Amino acid sequence: TTEGRKVKTVSKSAKLASVCYDIRGPVLERARQMEEEGQRIMKLNIGNVAAFGLEPPAEIVQDMIRNLPDAAGYTDSKGLFAPRKAIVHYCQEKHVAGVTIDDVYLGNGASELIVMAMNALLNAGDEVLLPAPDYPLYTGAVALSGGTPVHYICDEASGWMPDIADMRRKITPNTRALVIINPNNPTGALYPREVLEQIVQVAREHQLIVFSDEIYDKTLYEDEVHTSIAALANDVLFLTFNGLSKNYRSCGYRAGWMVVSGEKRHAKDYIEGLNMLASMRLCANTPGQLAIQTALGGYQSIKDLVAPGGRLRRQRDLAHELLTAIPGVTCVKPKAALYLFPRLDPKMYPIEDDQQFILELLEAERVLLVQGTGFNWKAPDHFRVVFLPHEDDLREAITRIARFLENYRKR
Ligand code: PLP
Repeated sequence: TTEGRKVKTVSKSAKLASVCYDIRGPVLERARQMEEEGQRIMKLNIGNVAAFGLEPPAEIVQDMIRNLPDAAGYTDSKGLFAPRKAIVHYCQEKHVAGVTIDDVYLGNGASELIVMAMNALLNAGDEVLLPAPDYPLYTGAVALSGGTPVHYICDEASGWMPDIADMRRKITPNTRALVIINPNNPTGALYPREVLEQIVQVAREHQLIVFSDEIYDKTLYEDEVHTSIAALANDVLFLTFNGLSKNYRSCGYRAGWMVVSGEKRHAKDYIEGLNMLASMRLCANTPGQLAIQTALGGYQSIKDLVAPGGRLRRQRDLAHELLTAIPGVTCVKPKAALYLFPRLDPKMYPIEDDQQFILELLEAERVLLVQGTGFNWKAPDHFRVVFLPHEDDLREAITRIARFLENYRKR
């Protein structure tokens, strides 16, 4: 009570009970405190590309500055014509058929559109198949929308490919959609056409919507091309998410998009729902929208970073080599994206609570990672490493991780 008056406690909504977003969770809070105390933390926890001196193409920045005086107004809720047209062309290049301006939605990052797509679809009890490990926004968005997240396993032994049999086993009459993240965060897997075709077949048989997150589709180290699952069928409904955050190193511009394609004829009502939610948030930030056209039409400088000898590829190779040299650590080498998802042999590292493990690493070595369970991976035997820092910093950070693990083994 305050001065004799009874004060009600303010609680978060029950909807949030099953929402977890550990990438920005309690360990990060501790890291922030340590920084305030003057300690320097090595942050290998989030894919904030621009923060590591990987700057966006100058052409995009210059156009942002040039456009800013004319970008103070709202736009159409789906977005401006020119960037949406550039995205239509992008879909054509990726052989996704039948996409028109009307099928393209711009958002404040892909994140906003992912939440919107789930909100517009799900009723209580509806299930969505999500990968495990996942990018946790999906699990959170499904739960927040009143749906039930159901995780299918991605199989480490087969290079983290989706386990199609597991996917099939987990389908019920309530399953509405399935999500793939390709290229994958946190595993770095890149799905070959044959795997995508099997997923299309599952969706076709069970009339599931396919949500495909392709935000890393140009951040590729092994194969030159990325196959968009939406290019493989026109009798399945696809929602594809992409944006400038990663491939163009400009996540702060919050420029993302969503494309609806495939079997749209039977989805008029859902599309009306999407349009309604797009209208409710008025529009995506206008400067970010204007960056899209320049980015897609310009020189694709990400290629220089991922090519042999390129900065991102060198960092991937080094991080993989150093991590897998630690006793009891194995790791599938990522073919794409910005992350490694190493496994700790449970016999050598009997971890019970991996958040605690990551917290202890932070306290002992001032290196910040995210625990595997933060990606809805059930066993406490993985962690994610972001390989964005320069080689010297990566070497230093992984040396510290190795030292921590050595002490852990001696406990
Ligand atoms: N999807 C995946 C798989 C991601 O890894 C991320 C960011 O890390 C996002 C979406 C968020 O993208 P945006 O910045 O466009 O909201």
